[in-house]
Amino acid sequence: MGDALASPEAIERGLIARGLGRSYGDAAQLEGGAVIDATGLQAIGPVHVAGERATVDVGGGVSLGDLARRVAPQGWFPPVMPGTRHVTVGGAIAADIHGKNHQRDGGFGGTVESLSLVGADGVQRPVTRESDRALFEATVGGMGLTGVITSARLQLEPLPSGVVEVATQRTSSLDATLRAIVDGDATHRYSVAWLDLSGPGRRARGIVQHGNLAAPLGLDEDQRRPAYAPRRALPVPPLPGRGVVRDPIVKSFNLAYWRRPRKATALVPLPRFLHPLDGAASWPRLFGASGLLQYQCVLPDGQERTLAALVEAFTKAPVSPSLAVLKRLGPQGEGMLSFPLQGWTLAVDLPAWNAEVYLMLDRMDEVVAQAGGRVYLAKDARLRPDLLAAMYPRLPEWREVKQRIDPEGRIRSDLAERLGLVPSASRIG
Ligand SMILES: Cc1cc2nc3c(=O)[nH]c(=O)nc-3n(C[C@H](O)[C@H](O)[C@H](O)COP(=O)(O)OP(=O)(O)OC[C@H]3O[C@@H](n4cnc5c(N)ncnc54)[C@H](O)[C@@H]3O)c2cc1C
Repeated sequence: MGDALASPEAIERGLIARGLGRSYGDAAQLEGGAVIDATGLQAIGPVHVAGERATVDVGGGVSLGDLARRVAPQGWFPPVMPGTRHVTVGGAIAADIHGKNHQRDGGFGGTVESLSLVGADGVQRPVTRESDRALFEATVGGMGLTGVITSARLQLEPLPSGVVEVATQRTSSLDATLRAIVDGDATHRYSVAWLDLSGPGRRARGIVQHGNLAAPLGLDEDQRRPAYAPRRALPVPPLPGRGVVRDPIVKSFNLAYWRRPRKATALVPLPRFLHPLDGAASWPRLFGASGLLQYQCVLPDGQERTLAALVEAFTKAPVSPSLAVLKRLGPQGEGMLSFPLQGWTLAVDLPAWNAEVYLMLDRMDEVVAQAGGRVYLAKDARLRPDLLAAMYPRLPEWREVKQRIDPEGRIRSDLAERLGLVPSASRIG
């Protein structure tokens, strides 16, 4: 761990930890400051089994993919996995990430038994719910702003095989998609919907997938073996300008993807079901040098009409959304700044070059806040600070903890400064 090249001025300016940089915005950046590369924290301890449960001690820089690869052959698996395996344990805790099973199993923070935190004073301390509940809850989902997570003890769950039983259905409207998700959730652990928002006539048609870890009985030998073995990713070269994500291409791709014949049920290897985007390395390069913007919000149950209005606005966006994913989320977890709350979460990828998109998203933020929802900080690069308190009602509690453990606001990021989570830089020192 440590940025050996950080100058005294940079350290004086402030510090923030960085994992694998998979947050979409400015959460793991600090202009002019010291960004601590935590990926050197690579230890993975033995799996400790206690009946139906197990735990493992891991360094904060271990990726969830590496952890899964290590523990799966022993019949264990991290219960919460995001849409990419290239996420560190520290990043997963800091964003209290959710998987396709949040509605059943909650977020990553719920799988953390304890963690080790190096605070602004440079002291490493163990943190548990019992030792300091407020600090634990400020750290889970706290976007790295309480300190550097150097290690954690994580719960694991039994892994019965190397495949997921996946049920897939095509839907032709948002209403049908919502119904299909809710119906399937009664008997499945994982659920996710891909939506086509690439045009006003699209009516948010979708592909809904539900999944359960497959029991070994009846599987062939390869599938029966508990394993997490991702294939090598296809390389994407750097592309200039606006890349290849253009309206006509997006529209044709989405149409072809929606129409593609699919089996109603199939056995799918874990990596392909959990991390489909990892099949193409550096896929954001498709958006060219100008990059992409992801908007992810959650709306509480009962706000389905607001969701429909957002979806409709996206279908009329100045540029076609290239990817849109809809998921259910379960109840709010322990983290004071954790994103999930019971309802619907919509994540939409857009090219970053179009100025009108930013105005549209600004309007959406207000609608989301008014509806009792929130924007996901791990995906954000542009939210206005005045909406933060409405979206995150436990913010005052979080500020109390931050004040207690880092009164000078030494641990800070561009996101924290932009959103007013720390005092402005001029007051340090
Ligand atoms: C393709 C893709 C799919 C995704 N799917 C999902 C999903 O399904 N669900 C979901 O919830 N998220 C998802 N994400 C977002 C991702 O899980 C989070 O942004 C996660 O925080 C990234 O982890 P990282 O290691 O890359 O951390 P970084 O992006 O490097 O950092 C993210 C935050 O964590 C903090 N941090 C990192 N390491 C430490 C540490 N050791 N100690 C303290 N703080 C630390 C940073 O300061 C920063 O605030 C996805 C991202 C991508 C690119």
